[in-house]
Amino acid sequence: MKILYIHAHYDDYEFTASGTFELWRRRLGQALTVRVLVCTDGAGGHQFRTRAETARLRREEQLASARIGGYEFALLELPDGRVPRETFLAREPLLLAALWKAIRDFEPDYLFCPPMPADPLAGVHVDHLDVANAVREVAYLINVPHAFTPEYPADETRSAPCRVPVILNVQDSYQAGAVPFDLAIDVEDAFEQICRMSYCHQSQIVEWLPWVGRHHMEPPRSIAGWQAECRKRFHRRNRALGLDVARALEVFTVTAWGSIPTLEQLRKDFPPIFEEASPLDRLEQRLDAWRHVG
Ligand SMILES: [Zn+2]
Repeated sequence: MKILYIHAHYDDYEFTASGTFELWRRRLGQALTVRVLVCTDGAGGHQFRTRAETARLRREEQLASARIGGYEFALLELPDGRVPRETFLAREPLLLAALWKAIRDFEPDYLFCPPMPADPLAGVHVDHLDVANAVREVAYLINVPHAFTPEYPADETRSAPCRVPVILNVQDSYQAGAVPFDLAIDVEDAFEQICRMSYCHQSQIVEWLPWVGRHHMEPPRSIAGWQAECRKRFHRRNRALGLDVARALEVFTVTAWGSIPTLEQLRKDFPPIFEEASPLDRLEQRLDAWRHVG
């Protein structure tokens, strides 16, 4: 089982899906490979460190989290070797080529990425929106072997088929609960591990996020303080999703951007789905309808 998580920034993984993947890892052990692909250089999000220092520090923080979480970390590279700059993703003409290469090289079974806003009134983070849009746009091209051979030369007379993953969206706190979800996963058993991973991002949780001021948080002074903060975040998100549940949950939405799974396949592959909180009838109807269109 191979899972590719694609998002804009260092730390997005920890706040949206790391608990589910931790449960997945405990269940499958060596049979699971998780790769977290970050699409920007991380230089911009700080108020008193230089761009160069911030980029270096944030990369180190992500590597520390990856050592705790047992996942592979990769930074997206454009065909010319550059890493896209924050806020400039949509202006990179070769972003789709780079994503195409990264997805084809890894050939995941499941791909997770941020959502498109379901509501035009929802606010967005430009990088999250750009990654969501780019994954959606590149999805059909995953199994088009010549789509980007001008950038990544290959023998065009011989092409092996590339598996197209099931593509799911994670939640996006910048969209204030506006994204409907299909699957809730009870990640309470991974709560402490989520806190340990996200606590690696000190330049964010201690310095930047409290300063930028839209995350309702006090800077944590210890891992215990951070656990209390994470607990509040989970409760806030559950409430925003209309879930009257005290346990830590992560939620996901299945798209038709890539392969269309069956509900049985999701039940078999995923860590246990928290069925009471998941509108699975609605999901099953949607999956059936999509399969019949194909
Ligand atoms: Zn982000």
